[in-house]
Amino acid sequence: MTASPKRNSSVAGQPQATVRIALNRPLRRLFDYQIPEHLELEPGQRVSIPFGRQSAVGLVVETGVEPPAGIRLKAVRCALEHWPALPAETFRLLSWASDYYQHPLGECLFTALPPALRRGRPAAEKPDTWWQASGQPEALPANAHRQKALLAWLVARPQGAPASAIVAAGFTRDQIRTLEQRELVTETAAPARDQTAPNPTSIPGPILSPAQQAAIDEVPGPQSGFSASLLFGITGSGKTELYLHYLKQQLDTAAQALVLVPEINLTPQTVARFQRYFGDRIVVWHSALNDGERLSTWLKIRNGEPVVLIGTRSAVLLPFTNLRTIIVDEEHDSSYKQGEGFRYSGRDVAVYRAHLNQCPVILGSATPSLESYHNALSGKYHLIRLEERAGDASPPTINLLDIRSRPLEGGMSRPALQAIEKCLAAGQQALVFVNRRGFAPVMMCFDCGHMVECPRCDTRMTYHRRDRAMRCHHCDYQTAATEHCPKCQSEAFKPVGQGTERTEDILASQFPDTPVVRVDRDSTQRKGSIQDILKRVNSGKPCILVGTQMLAKGHDFPNVTLVVVVNADGGLFSIDFRAPEQLIQTLLQVSGRAGRGENPGQVLVQTCHSDHPILRSLCQGHYLTLADQLLAERESGLFPPFRAMAIFRAEADTMEKSLQLLDTLKPKAGITGIDVWGPLPALIARRADRHRAQLVLCCDNRKRLNHVLAYLCQELDQQKLQGGLKWMIDVDPQETG
Ligand code: ADP
Ligand code: ZN
Ligand code: ZN
Repeated sequence: MTASPKRNSSVAGQPQATVRIALNRPLRRLFDYQIPEHLELEPGQRVSIPFGRQSAVGLVVETGVEPPAGIRLKAVRCALEHWPALPAETFRLLSWASDYYQHPLGECLFTALPPALRRGRPAAEKPDTWWQASGQPEALPANAHRQKALLAWLVARPQGAPASAIVAAGFTRDQIRTLEQRELVTETAAPARDQTAPNPTSIPGPILSPAQQAAIDEVPGPQSGFSASLLFGITGSGKTELYLHYLKQQLDTAAQALVLVPEINLTPQTVARFQRYFGDRIVVWHSALNDGERLSTWLKIRNGEPVVLIGTRSAVLLPFTNLRTIIVDEEHDSSYKQGEGFRYSGRDVAVYRAHLNQCPVILGSATPSLESYHNALSGKYHLIRLEERAGDASPPTINLLDIRSRPLEGGMSRPALQAIEKCLAAGQQALVFVNRRGFAPVMMCFDCGHMVECPRCDTRMTYHRRDRAMRCHHCDYQTAATEHCPKCQSEAFKPVGQGTERTEDILASQFPDTPVVRVDRDSTQRKGSIQDILKRVNSGKPCILVGTQMLAKGHDFPNVTLVVVVNADGGLFSIDFRAPEQLIQTLLQVSGRAGRGENPGQVLVQTCHSDHPILRSLCQGHYLTLADQLLAERESGLFPPFRAMAIFRAEADTMEKSLQLLDTLKPKAGITGIDVWGPLPALIARRADRHRAQLVLCCDNRKRLNHVLAYLCQELDQQKLQGGLKWMIDVDPQETG
């Protein structure tokens, strides 16, 4: 890579050629520096500059800036590379995002750099070491499961594999080192590139069904320039298979592609499926990579290598130079929206990026977001429907189980337990969905009515029986659990409600001969544990899976035929306008885990509101019909996607300070066409001892809203804030409580 021979536009005789630089700080301003004579700079390039008494890494935003009269600027120390770390297209993308999300440009630009480069390290790549098996798995002790698996994986690849691919397949560098010490693997030279390239003509997966073929035929190819397609494909309809075929058929061998997935879906199973089609072209990007792995993947992308990148949210910001297709799987997933700092939506940025690159973007989901569905209805996106399951599988039947007058055992009704028994007896697997981790969401004294609350938040603490702890799920505060009421010492101090641990216990005592596997954030903390669990489930032996949302997302469990939803009522009466959409999405996604193989699936939803219209339509199972109803409600309530929305949030050590700050904004925001609600305390008004308030702005003209937001941010920047007072802005917020 070399810098283009563009000259800085300094005029001869004017000594102060000036450059505008962004820093990785939450500052809404840029800094001007002088360019030393010998240096040529262009936008996107990394430089080292003196800043205060230290030096800092900066990114060039603009060259040929008018030098200020009468001030002598400090000079740039040096360029860290000759080439721009952020190529022009990535730079434009991030500048657009900075403006759209009203987040400081410097911080936006730096998100596209790997941590090492943010810190000013050189962009030199450590070569990817190749490993080859030099022994057999039998040589390992019986309990070295992961090492055995890794060695078997390598034995199946006689040419060896690069460390990056080994890590992508779910193994660790430690495991490679241990095998090396045992002399079961050896370092080897990378084979010449063409030997490892997969055969471009062969399609190694199943032949597409006529319905899949019809769907894929509707997606315009990369030659047709920009297109956005919303692939509505019911759970198990073979969307992933369709992406694979599309990329295989349409993607030029020299081009780059990006496949965005929610974090939890980036499992070795998914990667392996892609590797079967694309071999070494597959690279991954997710939160578990270390700094070295990030740098080396980043360089591959920046160097224009023809990778197919599977990554989570932030992958959409990487410096691709030849991006020809973008796929966003499970596009409705809320994890695409960053919840803090630079609050961008990976999905929405992906659509804009496809537009910049004049390439196709495919948004896929069984439960599309109302935003995307609305865009499809208004003709902005192509709507492609895939409404039958792949292979021989048929959609599951969904039934409501009214639990108002039924005795429950640890939250489980008799009919639900009987259904599980029947399912296990048939040699199949059951999945039980609980929306809360821990043992019980509340500990309550039946004598004095005391409930244990978090001392730092306006919430109750969750009882975690395995660790004998009370934990706040909002600030992670923790205390030891007590057997007596901490207030009146009564023994009538009991858990109320269901968490995954409690359901696990009940099921283990009801079905003592069947393994019960719990899947939640607590049980999957260890690296690789989710892989082990998935592997166990995929062995197909009868078992009961108990888990949270984690289980709902995109997994393919062919032998799960029964899904029980312990309680569906949480989202029915929430004040958040997105709650009904999210409830339906979760219920349909978790239902979609049933009956993906040969045997039909059944879903039982326990509820106290079996006549609620949302749950009744859910049983019909037609997502788009439900989505039509929800969109009508959004339209009459003047909510997104019919209007653009943004929220200013403030937090401080008192509620008064937070409300006061937002109060100063309100009159400035109330320009014609902008609706302002609040300021009001947030739903959880106090969190980790911070008092939170919010001001909601809505407008049917996005441009106008954007202008007002920019103006308000400027106003806030100029205010001297009282100690501890902080504000932030969230454009297109996912959480409005
Ligand atoms: P989705 O991504 O829509 O949930 P997948 O692509 O994971 O669906 O497919 C679900 C299951 O059906 C997988 O086990 C997959 O291998 C299988 N499958 C997909 N397409 C076909 C096909 N055309 N023929 C046979 N099996 C298929
Ligand atoms: Zn008490
Ligand atoms: Zn708390």
